[in-house]
Amino acid sequence: MTQFTDLGLAQPLLRALQAEGYDTPTPIQAQAIPTVMQGKDLLGIAQTGTGKTAAFALPILHRLAADKQRPPRRGCRVLVLSPTRELASQIADSFRAYGRFMGVTVAVVFGGAKINPQIKALANGVDVLVATPGRLIDHLQQHTCHLGETEIFVLDEADQMLDLGFILPIRKIVAKLPAHRQNLFFSATMPTEIGKLAGELLKDPAKVSVAPESTTVERVEQSLLFVEALRKRALLAELFAEKALNRVIVFTRTKRGADRVARYLEASGVSAASIHGDKSQPQRERALAAFKAGACRALVATDIAARGIDVDSVSHVINYELPNVPEAYVHRIGRTARAGATGMAISLCCDDERSLLKDIQKVTRQTIPSFDRRNDTRLGQATAMADKLVPKDAGKGEDPIYGQKQNKPRGESRGGGGGRHGQGRPHGGQGHGHGQGRARHDGQQAGATGEGRGDARGEAQGRGGGPNRNRRRRPGGGGGAKTPMSGSWSPSAN
Ligand code: AMP
Repeated sequence: MTQFTDLGLAQPLLRALQAEGYDTPTPIQAQAIPTVMQGKDLLGIAQTGTGKTAAFALPILHRLAADKQRPPRRGCRVLVLSPTRELASQIADSFRAYGRFMGVTVAVVFGGAKINPQIKALANGVDVLVATPGRLIDHLQQHTCHLGETEIFVLDEADQMLDLGFILPIRKIVAKLPAHRQNLFFSATMPTEIGKLAGELLKDPAKVSVAPESTTVERVEQSLLFVEALRKRALLAELFAEKALNRVIVFTRTKRGADRVARYLEASGVSAASIHGDKSQPQRERALAAFKAGACRALVATDIAARGIDVDSVSHVINYELPNVPEAYVHRIGRTARAGATGMAISLCCDDERSLLKDIQKVTRQTIPSFDRRNDTRLGQATAMADKLVPKDAGKGEDPIYGQKQNKPRGESRGGGGGRHGQGRPHGGQGHGHGQGRARHDGQQAGATGEGRGDARGEAQGRGGGPNRNRRRRPGGGGGAKTPMSGSWSPSAN
């Protein structure tokens, strides 16, 4: 098996890898590193968790070390575009970690943070600049950054960029890059529009592809619990009685929902923090650090806030509410079972969410093993207790599950806007221009405003193909045969 020492990487990089405890490249690293070291363009089909950050960071740092130059003033030698600030910070941290023995300078710019320190950091130029599109455009407009001498351009998570409506901003940024440059393009999936963008950006690229999205679906042990909406929190508390749930990401659809669930977990004796677009950057960083350090057992997150969160050994993902778009289900459960570890995903589904479930099972080509916990007297009693513990925001007109009191049409209104699932996915081509037009220009802003409203995201996702590009037929999971956890937890009270 290939070792990092076989790849011809510069000595300072091998030392850094040793310090990280990495000997063996992951498949994407083994494929991508030699190609990128040669200066070729690269198209990488890979999702987070495959080691793709090091797959581009290592050969880029190798090239910088081989050709030491002062970075241009207010410019950078390498530009990495990331859809979210969390991912941008993590990419910058990776460059710093791998480049620690070669004196590389790294800056990260994203929205929601003060601009002046970023201007200062860019003043003398940096080797590597990691940025979200919106804030980078601000810097370009203010002439606090220029890209005319950038040698290498990396576009990471291109399909997420599309979901967040960043395609136009990316095109604006690319127009400022010099024509002669190396381009690396990463995406977990390849919807038509992303394929088109890749075709425009890349010159005769080498293609590497690992772990198609379906393998996430295969790798993660999934189960589904049917339960009344009002009893979800009692069921959640019951799940947490199982010790095996030691590092859990709980997903909600709305920011307020995330806060509410975190509050309830805390009141039930489960240490929890929430992370979403309304939280300040320091608050998000604190929550993430506590979760990473094991100081809190549950991180309650919305989809956008959870993008790019790279925490190893997440034991379980719980979908407290199913996502509006089925592709998000795959992204969510991919937060567990990372880097070869095992993981479990448990989804709570109430009657109103049946159509979302149908979409998920269609996209993932599977039937999630399910257990029926409806009409369960034990949960009924626990719910009565839960209501005493944390009254459900009485008087605020809130729906305990969806956050706001809404009209609840029986038929799903997912295509047309309105409805409690936000705008969901459009059923026609019309959503396209619409999504772009309303797009936010920054991960932070999108996070702050897009969540729970199906904003640019829901519409964008309607366009592309699903993550399950291969559409491999898999045998159905069968219903009800497996328990989601091995302990005493009883799957059904039928
Ligand atoms: P990424 O896909 O870049 O988000 O990386 C996923 C996780 O795998 C991160 O926690 C990395 O630190 C870790 N990782 C990356 N490359 C390796 C490797 N060769 N061996 C072990 N862990 C790795």
